[in-house]
Amino acid sequence: MRYATIKKYDIANGPGVRVSLFVSGCRHRCKGCFNAELRSFDYGMPYTQEIEDEVMAALQKPYIAGLTFLGGEPMEPENQPFVLKLAERVRREMPEKTIWLYTGYDLESDILAARLGDWEVTERILNCVDVLVDGEFVEALKNPDLRFKGSSNQRVINLPATLERDEIVLWRDEFTTEKDL
Ligand code: SF4
Repeated sequence: MRYATIKKYDIANGPGVRVSLFVSGCRHRCKGCFNAELRSFDYGMPYTQEIEDEVMAALQKPYIAGLTFLGGEPMEPENQPFVLKLAERVRREMPEKTIWLYTGYDLESDILAARLGDWEVTERILNCVDVLVDGEFVEALKNPDLRFKGSSNQRVINLPATLERDEIVLWRDEFTTEKDL
């Protein structure tokens, strides 16, 4: 896997101050894509063990709420093993940190339908993630006022509750308004 950037003080992609990993490679072709150069799997720098360690070190700061995966597309089959390794390490070593993951794929029709490579890897990623923001970016539904998503079709999903109840449960906190849902 390659990656474009690591943000160590990100306040835009999930609650609190977060570490964000922007992975390279994405097969979606969203019109108005805000990270078009990251669609290439060759973009950016190699994601190495040293980079994983750097992310873990950044996460250790007490004011960091958690880790966010985005890109690019973290759920592309090529990227999933690397996402899994880091996500399981965070769960093991820093269980108090939350994990958010942005994907252009749809939870039910793509991810849970096991359309994205090795299902065992996908399932283990899902078991690590607290919040999954799913769906392609749709320019016609773009709204800069939405919290933690770019277009109104996207869903900010409470993943553990969704998997437990077998129905979509949207994530919300005390600052969430009806327009964000
Ligand atoms: S999923 Fe994200 S990176 Fe991929 S084309 Fe859509 S907006 Fe761009």
